[in-house]
This record gives sequence, structure tokens and C-alpha cells, in this order.
Amino acid sequence: MERRDVVIVGGGPAGSTLAWALRGSGLAVSVLDRRHFPRDKTCAGWITPAVVRELALDVQDYRRDGRVLQPINGFRVGVIGAGELASDHGAEPVSFGIRRSEFDAYLLGRCGAELYTGAPLAKLCRDGADWIVNDTLRTPLVVGAGGHYCPVARMLGEGRGETVVAAQEIEFELSPAQQARCPVRGTEPRLYFCADLKGYGWVFRKGEWLNVGLGREDPHRLGAHVEAFRARLVRDGVLPADTPVRFKGHAYLLYDHAPRPLIGDGIVLVGDAAGLAYTRSGEGIRPAVESALLAARVIRAARDDVRPARLAPYVSAMEARFGRRAARDVVPPPPSRLRQALGRYLLGTRWFTRRVVTERWFLHRQQAALSL
Ligand SMILES: Cc1cc2nc3c(=O)[nH]c(=O)nc-3n(C[C@H](O)[C@H](O)[C@H](O)COP(=O)(O)OP(=O)(O)OC[C@H]3O[C@@H](n4cnc5c(N)ncnc54)[C@H](O)[C@@H]3O)c2cc1C
Repeated sequence: MERRDVVIVGGGPAGSTLAWALRGSGLAVSVLDRRHFPRDKTCAGWITPAVVRELALDVQDYRRDGRVLQPINGFRVGVIGAGELASDHGAEPVSFGIRRSEFDAYLLGRCGAELYTGAPLAKLCRDGADWIVNDTLRTPLVVGAGGHYCPVARMLGEGRGETVVAAQEIEFELSPAQQARCPVRGTEPRLYFCADLKGYGWVFRKGEWLNVGLGREDPHRLGAHVEAFRARLVRDGVLPADTPVRFKGHAYLLYDHAPRPLIGDGIVLVGDAAGLAYTRSGEGIRPAVESALLAARVIRAARDDVRPARLAPYVSAMEARFGRRAARDVVPPPPSRLRQALGRYLLGTRWFTRRVVTERWFLHRQQAALSL
């Protein structure tokens, strides 16, 4: 059986960033993912400039071979069915649109670790202080980076009774005729909040691709909400009438009240496996990347002594960065009718949609990028 210092389960942004951040550490790192790359991931594919900096993305190199990196300079924000307000954030891009199939394959390909793709985690057993992975790899440290349904997080007993954000999206290539008619500009994605403020939908154009979706922290009748949103956009001329109707679904947890641990004995969870998406926007790529960078610092320092006490600085670093989580399982009640009405009113004002919704909630401008 071969020995590795770290085995990372999952090669999405969290797993690949961790492997990349451990390159040159002298640690033998393997990443295994159940899928072959490039692979699709249900996601709008919006990243903030902080992610570009934290990943030290070479933008020219990334764009080579036709990868999409759509600059975003403004937004249109409103409530579904009540119109939107535009805000222009200037010439310097405030975000980028990527396609997850391209982005994730690029990050994994450059990470420098030994890769096993098409290789699901099927078996994880304890043997003394080591883990035995799929009967083939022995390691003192397993990192759960397998996304919301990560089997390592499940092994820690997570996944039951959680209040998830359930979301559905579709990404499709616009035909030349659809491109000519589509009023959505790549530089200006659209965000449409649900009238009950339990979620929001988006229409996001990335070059010749259009991504449409809706997520709610309330899984009941999600399909009906998505279909009503799609039909409304078609009626309003925002979407072509022949937009595909088969949306794909996925789930994730919001950081503030996700009841998942960050560490176990010889275990670290990063990204969606730990339930880290920003509570207001649901942005999960930046927290996935940042958790991986913070975990890498602690793993480098711990070397092969990965007992919980040595991994605890990861928990402190995450709390310093993202705040202390509320008590386990405490999910705030849905907004009252009065708060919903106030919210709808605010979403009709320029100040709120620009300063609060886009700059604070979605762009997280108040928080500088992590230094490497
Ligand atoms: C509809 C939707 C839209 C979203 N839009 C955005 C957005 O625009 N911007 C943003 O920042 N965030 C967005 N998010 C959240 C974002 O997609 C996630 O937060 C992000 O992908 C988390 O990265 P990760 O690496 O932790 O997990 P993932 O990206 O889910 O990667 C996990 C990897 O683990 C692998 N894996 C799973 N199980 C196993 C197993 N048993 N064995 C081996 N490998 C396994 C998977 O194949 C996958 O490659 C969205 C989410 C949804 C659902």
C-alpha cells in the first residue's frame, strides 16, 4: 500500500486550491475525484476579483484555448416581476463569469498533486493513526473537499436535518439568432429576488453562454418557483422563448448556521463539504478557496502530527475570517410580512441595491483578498 501525507477527496475549487497551496511543501499529496475532468458543476459561475488574486490566476493564460472569463462591470437588481435597477461600477471589472467545466479543470490541472480522477471514495477505514483510502492509499490526513454531499463529511455524521439552499440552474449556448435578440449583456448580470425574500434568481450571460437559475433557503416547491421565474423572463423578453426547460439542481449550506465541523481526528473539511457559502449571496467559490488556503497553512505547520489539537488553528483562522457560527442548527426564522415589505421597498431604491446588495452582499468589497 502506498503512503501519502495528505489525501484530498474532491477536485473542485476547494480541493484543487488546497493541493496547489501545498505544492513545494515536501508533502506527498493526492487528490481523488469521482468524476473525470472537465466535468460540469451546477453553478452560475460568478467569481469576484478576490478569487482571481487568491488563486494568482494568470488571466492571459486562463483565456488561452478559448476559456470564458467574462468581465462584469455592473448589475441589474430587483424583485421578480417588479423591474430592476441598473448600477454601473466603472471600467475596472468588479467580477468575472467563468464556466465551471473549464475553471475547475484548469485549477485541478495546474495544482501539482497526484491526481486520481474517475475515482470515487468508496472506502475509508482507520488503521491506528492512519486512514486507509479505497484499500490503496495510507495517510494520516484526509481532507473532505467533496462538496455538499462529501462522503468524508457524511462519515463525520453530517448531512441530517440541515436547512439547505436548494438551487436549480441551466447553462446553454445561445444560437446566433438568440444572441442577437438577448437583451442581457455579459457585463451586466441580473439578480431578481423572490417576493418573499427567501431566495433569488439570476440571468447571467458569459460570452455566448447564458446561465439562468434560482436558489431558495426553502426546498419546498423549488421546481414551481423556477418554472414561474423562467416563464416570467420569457414573457418579459429577457429569455428566448425556446430556452431549455430541464434545469439541474444542487444544494449547499450557508456558513452562518451550517451545522458542520471543520476538523476531526486526522480530518479537515474545506469548501462546501464544511458548508461555507456566504449567507447573503450564496457565493461559495471564494469561501472554498479561502478555506483551502487557511487549511494549507495549518497542514504545512502540522506536518504529520494531525491530531485535532494540531488542526485547531484552522478552526480559529476560519472564525477570524468568516466570524463565529451561530449555535448548531439555529436557522433564523423566515422574514415576517413586515420585513418582506420593507425588503421589497429597499430593493426598489438605488442606494440599497448598489451599496448593500451588490457592493456588500455580493462583491464583499469590505473584505480584502487573503494574501498567499
Ligand atoms: C445553482 C448554484 C449556483 C451557484 N452559483 C455560484 C456562483 O455563481 N458563484 C459562487 O461563488 N458559488 C456559487 N455556487 C456555490 C458553488 O458552486 C460551491 O460553493 C462551490 O462549487 C464549492 O466548491 P467545492 O470545491 O467545495 O465543491 P464542488 O465544486 O462541489 O467540488 C466537489 C468535488 O468533489 C467530487 N466528489 C463528490 N463526491 C465524491 C466522492 N465520493 N469521491 C470523490 N470525489 C467526490 C465532485 O465530483 C466534485 O468535483 C452555486 C451553487 C449552486 C448549487
